[in-house]
Amino acid sequence: MPGFEPTTRTRNLGRLAAEAFDLLVVGGGITGAGVAREAALRGLTVGLVEARDFASGTSSRSSKLIHGGLRYLEQGEIALVREAATERKVLRRIAPHLTDTALMLVPVYGRTSAGVYKLRVGLSLFDKLAAVDAGERHRILSRTDALAAEPRLNADRLQGAAVYPEYVTDDARLVLDTLKAAHHAGAVVVNHAQVVGLGGRGAERRLEVRDAFSDATFTARARVVVNAAGPWVDAVRRLDVEAPGPVLHLTKGIHLVFRAEDLPVRHCVVMRARDRRPLFTVPRGPYVYVGTTDTSYEGALEEPAVTAEDAEYLFDTLARSFSDLHLTSGHVVGAWAGLRPLVHEEGRSPSEISRKDEIAVSPSSLITIAGGKLTTYRRMAERVVEAALPLLHRTAPAGRSESEPLAGGNLAADSVTAGLVPAEIRARLRAVHGSDAGEVCALAEDLASWEPLAADVPLSAAEVRHAVRREMACTLADVLERRSRLALFATERACAVAPKVAALVGAELGWSAERRDAEVAAFARQCEARLGWRGVTSPVACVAALGTRA
Ligand SMILES: Cc1cc2nc3c(=O)[nH]c(=O)nc-3n(C[C@H](O)[C@H](O)[C@H](O)COP(=O)(O)OP(=O)(O)OC[C@H]3O[C@@H](n4cnc5c(N)ncnc54)[C@H](O)[C@@H]3O)c2cc1C
Repeated sequence: MPGFEPTTRTRNLGRLAAEAFDLLVVGGGITGAGVAREAALRGLTVGLVEARDFASGTSSRSSKLIHGGLRYLEQGEIALVREAATERKVLRRIAPHLTDTALMLVPVYGRTSAGVYKLRVGLSLFDKLAAVDAGERHRILSRTDALAAEPRLNADRLQGAAVYPEYVTDDARLVLDTLKAAHHAGAVVVNHAQVVGLGGRGAERRLEVRDAFSDATFTARARVVVNAAGPWVDAVRRLDVEAPGPVLHLTKGIHLVFRAEDLPVRHCVVMRARDRRPLFTVPRGPYVYVGTTDTSYEGALEEPAVTAEDAEYLFDTLARSFSDLHLTSGHVVGAWAGLRPLVHEEGRSPSEISRKDEIAVSPSSLITIAGGKLTTYRRMAERVVEAALPLLHRTAPAGRSESEPLAGGNLAADSVTAGLVPAEIRARLRAVHGSDAGEVCALAEDLASWEPLAADVPLSAAEVRHAVRREMACTLADVLERRSRLALFATERACAVAPKVAALVGAELGWSAERRDAEVAAFARQCEARLGWRGVTSPVACVAALGTRA
C-alpha cells in the first residue's frame, strides 16, 4: 500500500469523484479520523473529506491529555468515567508512542486536613470504578512530601497533595496516525477539500466537494454521510435541508506556553482558579503549558484568538498557586486557542455542559456527531458505525480497532537504524513517529539534512520533506503547526524559520515566489492571533513584512 503522499491526495480526489462509498465522512479531526478507521477496519468502503488540514480544528488545540475521567466523577457521570478509563487503556495499547505518562498533582489547602481525606475517598472510588491497574493508583502526599515534589508551590495553608497518573499525547499526531491507519485499512482520505453542498437522499447521497488548490468542484457519492465537522457541525447540517440534530454551544479554551526554567514544575499541577475551575500545568520537554479557559464563543471559527482577558485569567491562577514566580506576558513563548463543540444544554454555563457525545440520524441518512472528547474518540467512532450499519443493511463485527495499532504504534517493529541520523534526532523521531521513525530516516539524503533549521529549533530539512512527501502536508502551517508543533510551543521561533520552511515546502510542491510569500504572510497572521494580545513588537510582524526575504 503506497504511503500518505501528495500523489495519494491527487489519486484520492480522483477516487472520490469516481467511486460510490458506503460512508463519506465530513471532517478530518479526531472524530472523523476515528470513524474512517473504524469503518475501514469493519470492511466498509469509506471516504473522508477535510476542508483545511487534518486536525486543523479543535483536534490540534486541546489540552492534549488522555483522561481517565476523574472530573466526570465529581459530576456524577459514572458511565463516562468507565468509558474514559477503558479508552485510556485502549489508547495506551494501540498508540504507545502517543501516550506518555503525566503525573497529576492535586494540592490541598485549608485549615484542617479534611480536604485531603475527601480527596483520598474520591480517588479510591475512582481507582475502583475505573479499574485502575495496581501500578497506576493514586498516592497521598504529606505537606512535606508535597513541597519536596513541587518546591515552588505556595506553602501557605498547604495540607498535602494527591498524585495520580494520566497520559499526555500529541493531539494532531493522534489524528494523523489514526488517519494513516485508516488509509492502510483502505479508507480514501483527502485534506484541503471542503464539502460545500449536500444533496440526494436515502442510499444516494451526493456531496459537492471543492478542492482548495484548484478551486475545482466535483460530486462524491455515498450511501451514508457522517457529519464530524466539530465546531462546524451546525454549518454542515444546514447544507442538508432535512437534518435536525444537536445545536452547538461553542466554548473557547486557551493555553499559554512558558519555558521550563521560567515555570519549573515537575508535575501536571492542578490549580484552582478564582471561580474554582481546575487549571493545569503540563510539563513537555523544554516547555510547560498552562490551560485552560472555558468561555462561550460566537466569533469566527477558523482562527480563534487568544485575548488579554483570557491570558489574565491564566496569570491570575498561576499567581495563586506559585506566588514567587511573577510570570508576565514577556515569559510567554507560545499559545493556542481551541473551540469545544459542545451540545447545547438550556440554562447551563460552559463548565456545566456535559462532555458526552450525541449522535443524531436524519431521515436523509445524515449522521451527525457532536460533543465528546479526544480520549473517547474510538468508542464514539464505534457508535457512529453502529448507527450507520442498519442504514446500509449490513452487519460487521466490532473489535479490531481496540487492538490494531495506529500508524507508528507497533513499537515491537521499531526500524530506526543508526546510519546517518544523529542519536539526538533519532530519539526525537522515535518520540514523534513511534515505529514509523525509520520511514523519516530513509528520506534524508545527507547529514546536512538533519541540521536544525535555526538555533534551538528542533526541526530539520529532512523532517520538513518527510511531512510533505509522506504526511500530505500541503501548506506552511500544515508543517509548522501540525506535523511539527513548533507554531504552538515556540510561536516566534516558528515565525523566524517560516521563510526557510516555505522555501523547502515550495521546492517539493513547485510553488511560485508569490505563493511562498503568501504562505509566510498567512502563517504570520495566524501566529499574530495567538501572541498579538501581548501588545509588543514581535518577530511575527517582522516576518509578515519580510516574506521569504527574511
Ligand atoms: C481547549 C480545549 C481543551 C481540550 N482538552 C482535551 C483533553 O485534554 N482531552 C480530551 O480528551 N479532549 C479535550 N478536548 C476536547 C477535544 O479536543 C475535542 O472533543 C475534539 O478535538 C473534537 O474533535 P472533532 O473532530 O469533533 O472536531 P475538529 O477537530 O474541529 O474537526 C472537525 C473538522 O471538520 C472540518 N470541516 C468543517 N467543515 C467542513 C466541511 N464543510 N467540509 C470538510 N471538512 C469540514 C474542519 O476543518 C475540522 O478540521 C479539548 C477541547 C478544547 C477546545
